[in-house]
Amino acid sequence: MSDAPGTDAVGALVPVPALLDWTRDALAAYGFHEQTALPLVSVCRDELMFGFVDAVTAHWGHAFDLSSLAGLPLMGRTGLAAALGHAPDDDGRHRLVVFAFPHIGADGGIGAVHRPGVPGTTAACGAVSVARTALATGVSGVVLDPHDIEESLLVQRLRRVLGTGEVPDLPAVTELVRRAAVEELALLLADLSTPDIVVDWALVSGVVVHLHDVDAVTLTAATVVVDGVATELALPR
Ligand SMILES: [Zn+2]
Repeated sequence: MSDAPGTDAVGALVPVPALLDWTRDALAAYGFHEQTALPLVSVCRDELMFGFVDAVTAHWGHAFDLSSLAGLPLMGRTGLAAALGHAPDDDGRHRLVVFAFPHIGADGGIGAVHRPGVPGTTAACGAVSVARTALATGVSGVVLDPHDIEESLLVQRLRRVLGTGEVPDLPAVTELVRRAAVEELALLLADLSTPDIVVDWALVSGVVVHLHDVDAVTLTAATVVVDGVATELALPR
């Protein structure tokens, strides 16, 4: 898929169905099929993300929802343990396919989207946009607001990466959110296998880009781990 006009800042785009077709084909060789694997999605709460989740569902079945603001996974070990308990048991082997995709609008400008019934454009990801403003004004996120837990943790996580330096543009901060999500998920996933339970997992990540009336993705990384051995998959061009 060629880049849509004005989306140079977010990178090369892949249609969402092509991404899912590719995951199905690429992971089949490692024993991951709709019948043998549970999909998990780490995406933003924004209703715009349901199209992406529906595409995951069409290819992999209903997904366990790891969602939080911006797509930063905050469910921790307890949440992931719950998901594991729902994964098919294939002769003692369990498989999880995890999709970590923060999002960004590109419909009327980078970071902008049109929504039905809403005049003009609105922000996507609004949570990342708010976090950028907070960071630029010196908010650390160290003090958690009990009535704004997810955004506080997002700011805290980004502050840990950025320090007190200049806050990068929205695509760059969105990429930082993707990396933070992958780091957290890989850490938790690596801890799931025990002598009694074999857990193979795949972690696919990128950014969902909302174009005019259609979504696409940038696909950044895909790792599959079988019997504790990690393989980086060659991404589709
Ligand atoms: Zn969002």
